[in-house]
Amino acid sequence: MADPAPDLPPLREVIARHGLSASKALGQNFLFDEQLLDRIAAIPGDLQDRAVLEIGPGPGGLTRALLRAGARVTAIEMDSRCLPALAELGEAYPGQLRVMQGDALKMNHAELMGEPFAVLSNLPYNVGTALFVRWLGGEAWPPEWTSLTLMFQQEVAQRIVASPGSSAYGRLAVLAQWRGAAKLAMKVHRSAFTPPPKVMSAIVHVTPADMPGGVSARVLERVTEAAFGQRRKMLRQSLKGMPGAVDALDTLGIDPQRRAETLSVDEFVSLARALSC
Ligand code: SAM
Repeated sequence: MADPAPDLPPLREVIARHGLSASKALGQNFLFDEQLLDRIAAIPGDLQDRAVLEIGPGPGGLTRALLRAGARVTAIEMDSRCLPALAELGEAYPGQLRVMQGDALKMNHAELMGEPFAVLSNLPYNVGTALFVRWLGGEAWPPEWTSLTLMFQQEVAQRIVASPGSSAYGRLAVLAQWRGAAKLAMKVHRSAFTPPPKVMSAIVHVTPADMPGGVSARVLERVTEAAFGQRRKMLRQSLKGMPGAVDALDTLGIDPQRRAETLSVDEFVSLARALSC
């Protein structure tokens, strides 16, 4: 039988003892509700003995929940003030927590982990989208990560899971839904955070899809950038600057008078495939 979870001091006490006042510049909004944190850690399924990458553990609220669930956690934190609190957590769960100090945007996550891993994170909003695009937009596929469970501003989460025809549908939706199955797993009220952010949050869960060959992520990115860059215009206008794109619409039977937000993910992928050849 697994050892019982160690008795840890309340997170608020840890924060007070280590003087971890929330830094606006680092996008720090902390979660303290341990039941909520356990529910977040449960989203990817059973984590017992699984490798997990957590970005931005801060004082370690979500990290505790991941460790309680039996995960082997690698946590990347930029703020060196959080390291002593995280070290205490590592002592309470011997051999289960590795903490790296630095900017997650500057690290090679697959190399760091060296085995398949789940990503869980209450991401700093300012780096969240950049990491998301990087995890989904790499040319190498399938990725080393087995799932992404990420906190976003609710408006960004809705853009990731949006369907064609809605005003939220755009580049993020096409990328996420091409590369994976993306669902909105949980809404999180702003009052759950300390300090509360201005907007509501939501957690997106993505699992990687099998990829049909012959499509370059870079080309798909260029097509969606051009098409949604002028989303009110017809495709024949917005794609004019991409050599071969308007002819490819014709070959694929896609009416050039349509606008970007009416194209399905499959139609964008067909277009990118035609332009990758
Ligand atoms: N996970 C904690 C929680 O749920 O209470 C803290 C979340 S807070 C929104 C975001 C954390 O990410 C902060 O601790 C911040 O210092 C850290 N952070 C910000 N930018 C980072 C980056 N580029 N790389 C790694 N950590 C970063």
